[in-house]
Amino acid sequence: MTKLGRELAAKGINVISLSVGEPDFNTPDHVKEAAKKALDENFTRYSPVPGYPELRQAIVNKLKNENGLDYDISQIVVSTGAKQSLSNVLLTLVNPGDEVIIPTPYWVSYSEMVTLAEGKSVFIDTEIDSDFKITPAQLEAAITDKSKVFMFSSPCNPTGSVYTKEELAALVKVFEKHPNIFIISDEIYEHINFVNQHESIAQFPSVKDRVIIINGFSKAFAMTGWRLGYIAANKEIAAANDKLQGQTTSGTCSISQRAGIAAYEQGLESVLEMKEAFARRRQLVFDLLNDIPGVRTNLPQGAFYFFPEISSFFGKKDPEGNVIKNSADLALFLLNYGHVATVGGDSFGNNNYIRLSYAASDESLKEALRRIKEALAKLA
Ligand code: PLP
Repeated sequence: MTKLGRELAAKGINVISLSVGEPDFNTPDHVKEAAKKALDENFTRYSPVPGYPELRQAIVNKLKNENGLDYDISQIVVSTGAKQSLSNVLLTLVNPGDEVIIPTPYWVSYSEMVTLAEGKSVFIDTEIDSDFKITPAQLEAAITDKSKVFMFSSPCNPTGSVYTKEELAALVKVFEKHPNIFIISDEIYEHINFVNQHESIAQFPSVKDRVIIINGFSKAFAMTGWRLGYIAANKEIAAANDKLQGQTTSGTCSISQRAGIAAYEQGLESVLEMKEAFARRRQLVFDLLNDIPGVRTNLPQGAFYFFPEISSFFGKKDPEGNVIKNSADLALFLLNYGHVATVGGDSFGNNNYIRLSYAASDESLKEALRRIKEALAKLA
């Protein structure tokens, strides 16, 4: 959709993109300054495969101070974005035929990465009525003797759902009965949480040793292009990731790593400013979505996405007589008739929804939602 949107824009059409998953803010100045300094100080050579020790120590400190978690730097591997961290972990843990349990909707790359690792994705479906969260009974029912990994994000992309400590505790009770299952906890949206303090499933001692935390700098510090993510895991998994990465990308960009140290050492002021803007936009989009007949939404508790239900439009026709059969058709219709780029829920494993990112200015969001409302009224 982003590509199609760009093509329309190249033809001179004003397209509002709500399809991409990145903050619309600039990287904070102190982080950029640290990168400039890194260049001047010649941090331009190969770095250690799992990352500079100073960066891994800053990550250890962050996990201790913000999350109350104890890790040693030998348990941290820095990679080229959280995306590579996820891919490394799956490639090291999953053998052909192993099952990876993934609640839907999930971030697009999860199931494709499982396929690349020759594993099999097993989905647990969730809907808007349960705030897109799984129950312990659903988890239990999905587990077989081939289950190797459970992977999820909280706050979640694409739904913005956030698991509470109590909800995580209930899932942990199930994992305690199945000690061979690893848990990939994708916490990349940790700092964009509007209601609760961030809770990590690694905070439960009974499972901590088999939790792999995925985190990074892209979302919290508006550093998507710097490609900086990491895992915190047990020493064996960290060592295996180090070994794999040593034969693929080696250590990630030296300059980005120096910038990452500054980001973690300087604290969360810039993150809080960004979060304030996201909180305001969240309310704005929530009110505007609720004003569109046929669209049903929840109020996401984190990240910067809405995942409204749009299945009431299936079977309707656009002014040229094309039938809207699924979420991809609806996203295409909104692009062509409303000039707003969104993403069909089928990309995230749930066809009855579309994803809208609200990482855009208030004015763009108001105009985008006005266009969406106007376009949807044309379906009959
Ligand atoms: N995990 C989730 C849930 C994401 O939404 C994203 C990016 O959109 C990533 C991981 C990857 O982040 P990075 O930019 O650090 O590779």
